[in-house]
Amino acid sequence: MNITAQTKLCMVIGDPIEHSLSPQIHNAGYRASNLNFIFEKRQVKKEELADFVAEIRKNTIRGISITLPHKIAIMQYLDELDDSARKIGAVNTIVNDDGKLTGYNTDWLGITGPLGQRITLSGKTVAIIGASGAARAAAYGVTSQGATIEIYNRTVKKAETLANEFGGKEFPLEAIEHVKHADIIINTTPIGMAPYTFETPLPKKYITKQHIVFDVIYTPRETRLLKEAKEKGAAIIHGTEMFLEQAIAQFELYTGHNAPIEAMRK
Ligand code: NAP
Repeated sequence: MNITAQTKLCMVIGDPIEHSLSPQIHNAGYRASNLNFIFEKRQVKKEELADFVAEIRKNTIRGISITLPHKIAIMQYLDELDDSARKIGAVNTIVNDDGKLTGYNTDWLGITGPLGQRITLSGKTVAIIGASGAARAAAYGVTSQGATIEIYNRTVKKAETLANEFGGKEFPLEAIEHVKHADIIINTTPIGMAPYTFETPLPKKYITKQHIVFDVIYTPRETRLLKEAKEKGAAIIHGTEMFLEQAIAQFELYTGHNAPIEAMRK
């Protein structure tokens, strides 16, 4: 593309950042919509975060996608938070309106979007494995649509905090067998991606064909958990679907245009 003085810049920041697929998905969207935008990635270390925010206030970077480890730390530097970011307690999206920075969270849409295409969440029980940022987004998303949550986590205290906040129950990982009673199981731990590629957070024997199993991990595309869920006849949802949905919402916030979904999916 031709970069001119009018080209609007967006970027993703994190540390590490090399693995991020955000530039590919957003730039594919800009190309398909013929928008004069460009999306880059930049490594920002924890100790550089305050200076980075001061820098973006002064220039014309329109949108900033936030990935690990900054989703919580960035919040203190922003002027406004939307309701979902405040309730989830994490920001993955910043919109810069002439120096005024507003934080959003689109990760929860990455959970409710793919689930909503398959099931009505109201009245369902959702087992969430893990209790960090992605789990908080999932808890917010599914409870806002009338589902009940059960949180399974290695550190039970964190599961308890999350369950209390969103009106659910906490369990230690040793009680994972209890997921047999859930309608939907969402893995939000890194178990399944490197260096845990050959591991699963949930023994296969507890998965049934009545389950919908959603893994938020998107590299590898199909984790051991999803392979085994498929073998048991369960419906599965890949982390790439979450990645697409949260990026679609970001695209619309940054550009004000409807996202060209098929181009971004490809
Ligand atoms: P995270 O720090 O990677 O997740 C930590 C959670 O996993 C905690 O609950 C932690 O338990 C648990 N955990 C970590 N290692 C464990 C182990 N060896 N055994 C058992 N439990 C373990 O933070 P996150 O921000 O929530 O991200 C989780 C995953 O979501 C990442 O893989 C990330 O790439 C993915 N993600 C995907 C998308 C997408 O678009 N698809 C979007 C956001 C995030 P403790 O509390 O006990 O430490």
